Amino acid sequence: MTELNIPKTQRGLICDEVGSALKVREIPVPEPGPDELLVKIHFSGVCHSDMHIWLGEVPIKFPSPPAVGGHEGSGVVVKIGENVTNFKVGDRAGVKWINGTCLNCDKCKLGFEESCASTLTTGGTRNGTFQEYALIKASEAPHIPDNVDMAKVAPVLCAGLTVYRALKDTNVRAGQIVAITGAGGGLGSMAIQYAKAMGMRVLALDIGPEKEKHCKKLGAEFFVDPTVEANVVEKVLTLTKGGPHGVVHIATSEKPLEDAFKYVRTRGTIVIVSLPKDATLVTDIFSLVLRVITIKGSYVGSRADMDEAIDFFARGLIDIPIEIYALEDIPKVYDRLHKGDIRGRIVIDLSK
Ligand SMILES: [Zn+2]
Ligand SMILES: [Zn+2]
Repeated sequence: MTELNIPKTQRGLICDEVGSALKVREIPVPEPGPDELLVKIHFSGVCHSDMHIWLGEVPIKFPSPPAVGGHEGSGVVVKIGENVTNFKVGDRAGVKWINGTCLNCDKCKLGFEESCASTLTTGGTRNGTFQEYALIKASEAPHIPDNVDMAKVAPVLCAGLTVYRALKDTNVRAGQIVAITGAGGGLGSMAIQYAKAMGMRVLALDIGPEKEKHCKKLGAEFFVDPTVEANVVEKVLTLTKGGPHGVVHIATSEKPLEDAFKYVRTRGTIVIVSLPKDATLVTDIFSLVLRVITIKGSYVGSRADMDEAIDFFARGLIDIPIEIYALEDIPKVYDRLHKGDIRGRIVIDLSK
């Protein structure tokens, strides 16, 4: 086991129970198990899911208190367990939502580790990246290339991975059209860029002229504002000459999904990423069958997807505006997330 000069305690943003006040406290630095990495976190993105987990709004297990959230951490490996062979101390590594899997079940064997029934999750079943030192199984940690910006790569570890995999799940090929609902937000902005980088043509849906300017600047070919168009479905069908080949649903309301079902091209695929609370899906089965429409969920991504998503970023194809905050500012960040006034992504600086 190799180690640097690691302190015994560290600063972490602690939550004592679901929805309780979040306070920065001194907590022990965890010890890596035989197949784990201890990563000195430099930056951590703040994901919507962190807020929902903290508020108990999603059916996800809350870490046992004192709980630490956060699952978009970029940093440097400072200690490795005795069985680790794919990382050494000093390597840059990511700490993402899927923190460990069994690697032996049928899902894991097929490369769908994110669907493994025995996953460990960062800021879910174990403490996350809103602390200075975090653990991850070496098998689940992505390498972060030396040339990339450590602050900007943090959101790629969840937001980037999620939209990249969702785009793959649409089966839209280069030259075909993908529609993205909620395209002007943090996830949507990344989705537009990944789609472009994958050779897809993009139809962005969002509200307001500012979002239109933003989406088009990122590479959207078409923009539709559902609050302006009298008939959204007709408009999309006309612009795309028969409907987009796939849809990635990122908006948190259900209406855009109903529209998508009507405008998606026959034999097209709708991929749902967003998790509106208590939402259900009712579809017209007759159209579903006769138009051979696929509706599916997409949940983060595999280890291979993670490496690919980081590679697109490292090649300079993905950029996301970030705002940098301190650890104690996370409650303020949640306020802003709640109000929906964040354009890109908030990243917490833990490097000092
Ligand atoms: Zn996330
Ligand atoms: Zn498994």
